[in-house]
Amino acid sequence: MELKDAFNELPTPCYIVDETRLINNLEILDEVQNETGCKILLAQKAFSMFSLYPLIGKYLAGTTASGLFEARLGYEKMKKENHVFATAYREDEFDEIVKFCDHIVFNSFNQWLKYKNQALAAGRECGIRINPEYSTQDHAIYDPCAPGSRMGVTLQQFRPELLKEIKGLHFHTLCEQDADALESTLAAVVDKFGHYLKQMEWLNFGGGHHITREDYDIDKLISCINRTQENYQLKVYLEPGEAVALNTGFLVARVLDIVENGIKNVILDTSAACHMPDVLEMPYRPEIIGSGLPLEKPFTYRLGGPTCLAGDIIGDYAFSQPLKIGDRVVFRDMAIYSMVKNNTFNGMNLPAIAIFTKDKKIQIVKKFSYEDFKNRLS
Ligand SMILES: *Cc1c(COP(=O)(O)O)cnc(C)c1O
Repeated sequence: MELKDAFNELPTPCYIVDETRLINNLEILDEVQNETGCKILLAQKAFSMFSLYPLIGKYLAGTTASGLFEARLGYEKMKKENHVFATAYREDEFDEIVKFCDHIVFNSFNQWLKYKNQALAAGRECGIRINPEYSTQDHAIYDPCAPGSRMGVTLQQFRPELLKEIKGLHFHTLCEQDADALESTLAAVVDKFGHYLKQMEWLNFGGGHHITREDYDIDKLISCINRTQENYQLKVYLEPGEAVALNTGFLVARVLDIVENGIKNVILDTSAACHMPDVLEMPYRPEIIGSGLPLEKPFTYRLGGPTCLAGDIIGDYAFSQPLKIGDRVVFRDMAIYSMVKNNTFNGMNLPAIAIFTKDKKIQIVKKFSYEDFKNRLS
């Protein structure tokens, strides 16, 4: 079966991840590891589809987490290196953090002092997140270097006298960016913290590297990694989320109704607010297979969700043929920041989750029901 035929057979709404596309991304990431000796971790925040962790674990060095639950998922389902960074750890969770994670990164020297004995006694490698105060993008919501940011220690707050048992530094400042942004960020990191890098065993470049995007400058990334590793005699980690599953997933939905009010509103059985919240939060316009910009093709519609939120609108799209009730629309690039962010607002069910396997079969790995909605309420 071809993927386009699979789109017609799935229940709707449904996320489907194409294993072949995922393997292509993993091969690109693995090439970076092979060319540099660096280690690449899956940032589960973007993509926690654990049915695919055994496959991802064949290529990547492990997982990284934003807190206890992701850390536990990586520990249970990938079973390789397991890192964690949290803006602050909870006292009632730190025992388990130490149990599940081999690398623990702290957001402040306060936190380091608070948890250091416990982490070191268990033999964990600890790091500090630094803030190079060097912004390379305009999305304030995704800029940990914005003035007043709570993410990472600035040079002014840095306490070199507390570094003795710290093995690594970590920065995460990029979002969907190319290697030139990494290169200039590294210059800022070296300028401010280069002196301390000499005593470190590793430096984590964070995520936000759009490595698997077609026009990404992989050679520049490789030279950034190699140069840093040689100059400071340390190991580089990368922890991309997006780049692991970029362009590997689709969300298949169906037209429930079409209502006119000066424009033609298509009501889908999927919702921006529930199933693709970044469309409203980032915001951005997701691509739909076979569609164009408004008026670019003869039939233009406004696509919205079935919730009662007036702003649950995905965008305006043009098609070559009129849309009819029951037609399917397929959104591209829906593996990342989708399943991990979706919700059951309005009592919307969650989309099913499927894999299009490399031998071209549909494997439905999860379906949701009323119980999933009810179980997170009381
Ligand atoms: C979000 C995040 C990542 C992954 O970012 P992507 O943009 O998905 O590559 C990695 N590390 C940290 C600390 C993050 O907060």
